[in-house]
Amino acid sequence: MEIKVLKNIMKRNEDRAAVNRNLFDRFGVLAVNMMSSPGAGKTTILEKTVSELQDSLKIAVIEGDLMTSRDAERIHRYGVPVVQINTEGGCHLDANMVNRALEELDLENLNVIIIENVGNLVCPGAFDLGEHFKIVVGSVPEGDDKPEKYPLMFQESKACILNKIDLLEYSNFNEEKFTNDVQSLNPDIKIFRMSAISGEGLAEWCHWLKKEALEVRKLGK
Ligand code: MG
Ligand code: ZN
Repeated sequence: MEIKVLKNIMKRNEDRAAVNRNLFDRFGVLAVNMMSSPGAGKTTILEKTVSELQDSLKIAVIEGDLMTSRDAERIHRYGVPVVQINTEGGCHLDANMVNRALEELDLENLNVIIIENVGNLVCPGAFDLGEHFKIVVGSVPEGDDKPEKYPLMFQESKACILNKIDLLEYSNFNEEKFTNDVQSLNPDIKIFRMSAISGEGLAEWCHWLKKEALEVRKLGK
């Protein structure tokens, strides 16, 4: 009985994700689902990404959070459209929540929507939001064992950002192990080394994201 309920939930999510995907494709808007544990630096990466790319791309952000709108306020300062979703304790975003957030955005005037998922390394990996791809952010202080412990996030992602590399020299984080583990879970994944705080690695990531956005725009009708 319980399994049937879960199947129904997942089926409903898939249907709604398909609706979102159609919208993104129709308007030629790249949609990225950004996942990580709490504190890996997603919002800081977004702030830097928005400020780097906002002259060349029209970016909007959807902020998923348990309770607060703190992250949305941080993004709002950059003058880009931002929609807050409060999950009220829910540990992941689902396609229906994103669908409602899309009503607040002018898709016709956007090139990229980045969805910051709830900080959680478990279930966000299992929920399709209709995005073109997922990315996972790991960070040095979390330790190098996260790919081994939470493989789904890394298997489901097109890119992985290793953030806070400025802290490598103060920790026993084994970057080679991290990279090998990520690549053995997902041989096609693109890995970016970054320190969002210092700006190291930011240009490479932004260049890649821009290229992805232009691909999607070409396909838009
Ligand atoms: Mg955040
Ligand atoms: Zn969850």
